[in-house]
Amino acid sequence: MRFDLITIFPEFFTGPKDHGIVRRARESGVVDVHIQDLREFTKDKHRTVDDRPFGGGEGMVLKPEPLFEAVEKLLGHSVGDSRGRVRPSGKTAILLMSAAGKRFQQEAARRYAQLERIIFVCGRYEGVDERVAEYLATEEISIGEFVLSGGELPAMLVMDAVTRLLPGALGNEASTQNESFSEAAGQEAKAEATRGNPNSLRLDYPHYTRPAEYRGWRVPEVLLGGNHAEVAKWRRATALEKTRRNRPDLC
Ligand code: SAH
Repeated sequence: MRFDLITIFPEFFTGPKDHGIVRRARESGVVDVHIQDLREFTKDKHRTVDDRPFGGGEGMVLKPEPLFEAVEKLLGHSVGDSRGRVRPSGKTAILLMSAAGKRFQQEAARRYAQLERIIFVCGRYEGVDERVAEYLATEEISIGEFVLSGGELPAMLVMDAVTRLLPGALGNEASTQNESFSEAAGQEAKAEATRGNPNSLRLDYPHYTRPAEYRGWRVPEVLLGGNHAEVAKWRRATALEKTRRNRPDLC
């Protein structure tokens, strides 16, 4: 999988791409992370990427030309114009990070993990000329109902969520199978639904490690007993209980 990040702050990604699973995935060739400085696609002395909004109002807007040209350089072909649009291959997504986009969820991370390439367009200021959303991006996505100052953190977040789903990225392949929002959790939730818990998509169960007692707080006895069936039952029950408590909207 290749990730391209188009940004006016190329240094932004230095920390996040150099730690943990993303770093390991880069080192083992599971992912290739390429950072593209948007200012390389400006033509004036001041390397201007933004301009005032038509119609008036606050702030500045990222101009379309550098963004279109940056994506075209990365794709290696033109994306066309109003007379005809050239879409990227089905194995490439061009994601515009936007508070006004469709909400990013685990299901989308699973879909993106099937691709060969993701190009992230990171907005700044008041946002991005709408023609980027309409004619350049394949999707406009939001990471949640809050407004950040730029698309770099959202892009990192999506890259992280996708990377850990790629084969070979995690040491233990099984570990993405039963976690919160996973398909297995969903299937289990469906089974629960047939037992009278409609619509429940459960979250992960609580995890514990040593020491078995810390400041007088003991780990649940069932986890220490070695009875796998009892442990599985306890995990299902606590996962559902936690879902009801923290995310009643999922129940
Ligand atoms: N005026 C815009 C906010 C612009 S914030 C609005 O009201 O919707 C500047 C940039 O930060 C955006 O262009 C986008 O790239 C990024 N951004 C902010 N919040 C985001 C979110 N929740 N999800 C994804 N990107 C976000």
